[in-house]
Formats: sequence, C-alpha cells, structure tokens
Amino acid sequence: MSDETEKRDHRKIGEELDLFSFHDVAPSTPFWHPKGVIIIQELKNYIRNLQKERGYLEIITPILVKKKLYETSGHWEHYKENIFSLDVDKETFALKPMNCPGAVLVYSSKIRSYKDLPLRFSEFGNLHRRERTGVVSGLFRVYGFTQDDAHIFCEPNQIAEEIEGTLNLIIEIHKRFQLKTFFALATKPDKAMGDPMLWEKAEDALRIVLQKNKLKHEVHEKDGAFYGPKIDVDVEDSLGRKWTVATVQLDFQMPERFDIFYIGQNSDKQRPVMIHRSSIGSFERFMGILIEHYAGAFPFWLAPVQARVIPVSDKHLEYAEKIKKELSEFRVELDSENETLGKKIRNGEMQKIPYLIIIGDREIASNQISIRERGKGDLGGMELSEFLKKVKMQ
Ligand SMILES: [Zn+2]
Repeated sequence: MSDETEKRDHRKIGEELDLFSFHDVAPSTPFWHPKGVIIIQELKNYIRNLQKERGYLEIITPILVKKKLYETSGHWEHYKENIFSLDVDKETFALKPMNCPGAVLVYSSKIRSYKDLPLRFSEFGNLHRRERTGVVSGLFRVYGFTQDDAHIFCEPNQIAEEIEGTLNLIIEIHKRFQLKTFFALATKPDKAMGDPMLWEKAEDALRIVLQKNKLKHEVHEKDGAFYGPKIDVDVEDSLGRKWTVATVQLDFQMPERFDIFYIGQNSDKQRPVMIHRSSIGSFERFMGILIEHYAGAFPFWLAPVQARVIPVSDKHLEYAEKIKKELSEFRVELDSENETLGKKIRNGEMQKIPYLIIIGDREIASNQISIRERGKGDLGGMELSEFLKKVKMQ
C-alpha cells in the first residue's frame, strides 16, 4: 500500500470523521453513524431527482421472500451459493439477493399496455449476498447493502433509446464526482440461460448503442450475467484506480420465465424486454470509493458538516450562536469547547469541514465574519450575506 493510498484508507477516515463502524455481531455489514447517513441521503436525493426528471417511478420490494420467487427467476439455480436462506414455518425463505424478481411482480400486478411502456422502476433495494469477505475489506465487500437499482420494461423497438438513456444518466452522475467513466461490453458466459439467438440479438443491441454514441469500450468475453449480456461501467478515482460501479444489462430471459406481457397495438399479447441498470452500484461500496477519492474532504453539497462557527472565547459565544442560526439552511456546528483558537481551527481542519467561521472582537465590532476555507486558508472578513451568496453557488 503506498503512502497516499494508506492516508486515504476509507476505514481510517470513516472512523476519524465518525461516519460508520463495524461490529462483530453483524460481520461485514456497516453500522452507519449520523454523519455517514447524511452523505448517503444526499447521494440518494441527488440520484432520485435525476431519475424523476427521466420518468423513473420508485418502488420498494420485500427483503424476506420465499425461495420459489428465485426458483422462477433462475437465481436459485445459478446464484444459490450467494443467497442467505432461512427456514420459517417449514418453508424456505431467502434474504433478497437481487431486486429484479420483485420489480417483475410489481410490473405484473396489473395488465400493461404498449402505451404504458417504457416503464422505469427504480429501487434503492436493501440486499444481502453471501460474498467471500475478509476482515480488512471494509465497505468494499459487505454482506448487506443498498443497491441503487432500476428495471426498465420496454418494447423491443425501444431498447436502443432506453440503453442510451441509462448510459447518459450514468455518465452525468459520474461527472458530478469528477470520476472518469469507462465502458466494457460483457458477452455470453458459459453458464448462460436461454436461446442463443436472443443472446446474439441482445449483444448486438448493446454494441450498436456503444458505437453510435462513440463510447470507447473493451469487450469482456464470457463475462455477462447468466440471463443476458451487459455493459459494465468502471470509474477512475483521483489515484488512478479503476472500480466497476455501474452496469446496464439487457434481459430477454426473465420476462419469459415470469411470463409477463403487455397488450400491443393490435390488442395481442407481447413480451416486454427488461433492462437492469445501476448507476453507482451499492451505496456502501460507492461511499468507500468516494471517501478515498476525496480523502474525506467531501464537496460542500455532500459534507456532513458544511461549516463550523468558532467563537474565539466565551464572550463571543452569543454572537456565534446568532450566526449559526442565520445559517440554519446549511449543516452548521458550533465549537463551544474551552480550547485555544489554534486548537479549534486544527480540529475543524482535521474534520475536513469546508468552512470555518471565526468570531472574535473584530468581527463583532465590524458586523462581519472571518472565513477559513478548506484547502485555501484564511479568506479574511466578509459580510454574512456575501458568504451566503458564495456557498449557495456550490
Ligand atoms: Zn436486476
């Protein structure tokens, strides 16, 4: 491990910034602390808004499900070693390892017509998978996680447009974090399900979209899912490391297995195509990547504490409290510890807080605040309104 990688280790930063912890009683699954939850919620809000603009509808499906659902989907046969199963009242249940079959049940809960398609169901689904885990992998390999997931049901002639839409969404999201995006087409694996002709058709569809949008890509032979080919999307972080975070999968099998349909233009039953897609993968793993990418110095919109007001001494406390109140639309802390100013500034910097607001005699006399910006140091005095204008632009 290089010095820089070690300094950015998300387990270390996670502890220093009080974001999460691990405990023996839940092996390889994090307990999120309030500050970690703030970041996750901001990520969810951001993705939710983008999805809403693109016509996605959010669903929630059960975590404890009878195994027969996964027998129908094929997961029980092809993915059994990763499924946590448990017996309840003489029946075998599974902890949901994938959201897809649940989304299919929502689709089939009523008769759909071609006019309803494409139907884009998104889900921040809570999943459990029995993965090979190690004590040292932190957030990168966990048993329980929340998947940023979506399933699109469409007509065959809508495939290209829908794949294009998902790729554009993925590119936009990765750009927001200054992560570079790379694409790979993963083709039919040896352990594949379904008609070889459909596989060929699906692989062609993905290839054409990549080519048409001039998205440079590698081909990963035999690396597709058992039910269809996929486009894997890697990101490159600030240390030049690559992570596979997103995927777009085209699936003709699951609609067959669940026998779902829509009423076509000629009032006949037609089979929809299913697209599985994720933009950032699991929130847990993506958090691990972001912590290391930013070395804990989250951009203003994600920072769990966006500013800390530091009174120089007790006699400045009242004014400091007033400033904190006026910044109530942001996440602002007040440091009322009985420490030297130097120590309080150092503590704020250790917590990687974007702005430290210093209040002393001079600030009170001039009705201003003094700002220290993370990475830039002392910006000097300014009016509160000027500071508000500055942070609102971020
Ligand atoms: Zn899926």
